[in-house]
Amino acid sequence: MKTDEEWKRTLTPMQYAVLREGHTERAFTGEHWNRKDDGTYVCAGCGTELFTSADKFDSGCGWPSYTRAIVEGRIKELVDTSHGMVRTEVRCAKCGGHLGHVFDDGPKPTGLRYCINSASLNFKKDETS
Ligand code: FE
Repeated sequence: MKTDEEWKRTLTPMQYAVLREGHTERAFTGEHWNRKDDGTYVCAGCGTELFTSADKFDSGCGWPSYTRAIVEGRIKELVDTSHGMVRTEVRCAKCGGHLGHVFDDGPKPTGLRYCINSASLNFKKDETS
């Protein structure tokens, strides 16, 4: 949907490194890991709504963590064998931007932990809260 040149121009260097190059921000450094207010988390690349505060939980890992996506199909999952591990990478289904990884050590009801880079998300606070 955008050329590499356009992504470079429209994203911050940090957003570009995470979304387009698959980098991981350092734990406890991002904008959203400790955020507790009500709202919606949208893709920093394309604006698609990806997660909601209702599914966010305190995982203690230093990255914003969610039990599921806001709607099924918004997130694409791929096998990632980098760094000598087998992990499941998650990307925005619309723009393909790298978000983070999903692990199976999350709380009920899903048992999943979507461990997401703050840099890949923008937060939209609920108007009513
Ligand atoms: Fe996106």
